[in-house]
Amino acid sequence: MYRKVKGTQDFFGIEAKKLRHLEGIIRAVIEKFGYEEIITPIFENTEVFVRSSGEESDIVSKEMYTFDDKGGRSLTLRPEGTAPVVRAFLENKLYARRALNKYYYFGPMFRYERPQAGRYREFNQFGIEAFGASSPYLDADVIISAAEIFKALGIENIKLKINTIGDFASRAAYSALLKEHFGKGISSLCDDCARRLDRNPLRILDCKIDRDNPLLKNAPKIEAVLSAEAKAYFQKVLKILDASGISYEVDPNLVRGLDYYTDTVFEFILESDDELGGLAVCAGGKYSDLVRSFNGPDIPGIGYAFGIERIIAIMDKQNLFPDLASRADIVLISLDEEAKEKALLLARALRGAGFYAELDYQNFNLKPQFRLSEQVDAKFLVIIGEEELKNKQLAVKNALTKEQELIPETKILEYFKENLK
Ligand code: ATP
Ligand code: MG
Repeated sequence: MYRKVKGTQDFFGIEAKKLRHLEGIIRAVIEKFGYEEIITPIFENTEVFVRSSGEESDIVSKEMYTFDDKGGRSLTLRPEGTAPVVRAFLENKLYARRALNKYYYFGPMFRYERPQAGRYREFNQFGIEAFGASSPYLDADVIISAAEIFKALGIENIKLKINTIGDFASRAAYSALLKEHFGKGISSLCDDCARRLDRNPLRILDCKIDRDNPLLKNAPKIEAVLSAEAKAYFQKVLKILDASGISYEVDPNLVRGLDYYTDTVFEFILESDDELGGLAVCAGGKYSDLVRSFNGPDIPGIGYAFGIERIIAIMDKQNLFPDLASRADIVLISLDEEAKEKALLLARALRGAGFYAELDYQNFNLKPQFRLSEQVDAKFLVIIGEEELKNKQLAVKNALTKEQELIPETKILEYFKENLK
């Protein structure tokens, strides 16, 4: 027996419907904010991710599915959506379309991680990227859109954590400060953090291994070196959130795992006592330098990504999915060859009229055909036998009331239009 690859999932039946159901709700919200869908390839040249996320990031250093194709190119299954969107934005000169460009995407991402609750090696994300404005109003509106999505999905117990990591000058000053601070306690930090100390000390604040090390808790805060401009920008974002009635917690240690962020960063975390509690469901931030670092024009961006599997797990727990089981409108039951052919043609006509019609393709006995109608929870049964064919009539049975009546063949569409609204 073949087994699926560790950390991957099959979606079928109701589980597949849940995924599409969510997608529908999210699409409806985000399109009202003016975002357009962008669909990029599942794999990219490896450089696209290395350049953007930073060689020291967990994603690039440990989590990428990278392989050489037969032409000797190094390709990587996308671990995240921002870098591919930026690549497409530049390659297609989308910045020439208009001043502000807003895109959203859905799709699978791949990361070599240790599988556990809410953590897979293939998982789905929904995300957005907005390019072309450096504005606290845009930042706030992006966060508001995420909050609106949680609302539309009905998810509660979500906490917004927000922070600023400042503009470039503030960030550089902060890095120096952290380097000095962590340098003193280097021996108590994990090997990864020891490496991060030189290259990107901000990253240490995001370390999952050293999370409880007092050195992290007592680290200097960005506040100390934040430029007046960056401070005012952040205050403005918070003010707009206040006015929008969106509650948040400023978390000075929130830095996010990727190199490209500047200024506003945020995460929406689930607050619950179960194994999902504390997991980030949506995370993002502003990136002023990413587009330029791809050799593009100096265009700022901001975005976020939701983990779809985490949303599904939460919605399951909070009982937020409607009944997604689909019921057949009509099952056609046929008792001989001629009737089977009639059933197939009638099914086609019924489907053409908008009904979900089903039939058994190989049995002429009643029993298996009744079983099928139970499996698909049919609302009506149409029974076609010798007698019905001869009289050009159909026996229609209401599965709920068990009432049965004879309907002339020519009136059958009309009958269902009347009775299956
Ligand atoms: P975490 O801190 O949980 O590892 P992250 O910072 O790596 O998350 P991002 O790269 O910001 O996550 O991705 C955005 C969202 O995608 C996360 O908030 C989460 O909901 C989801 N996500 C990330 N990695 C996984 C995974 N391996 N399996 C399922 N969902 C994931
Ligand atoms: Mg991660």
